[in-house]
Amino acid sequence: MPPLPKRKYPKARQGKRRSHLALKPAGLSRCPQCHNARLPHTACPTCGFYRRAGAIPVSRPKAAE
Ligand SMILES: [Zn+2]
Repeated sequence: MPPLPKRKYPKARQGKRRSHLALKPAGLSRCPQCHNARLPHTACPTCGFYRRAGAIPVSRPKAAE
């Protein structure tokens, strides 16, 4: 038989522990090229632009064709 807690934690203590577990929404920043919202440190999903240097080709262009 494994070691077990001597008594159960009260719901108040469980709630106090879980009060720090909530996830925050990811912050959004603006693409300097097309000014659409994108996640920070990622290539822009709209235009494929990343930090002036290079652009990644967008696999499925929405406006074109
Ligand atoms: Zn962009």
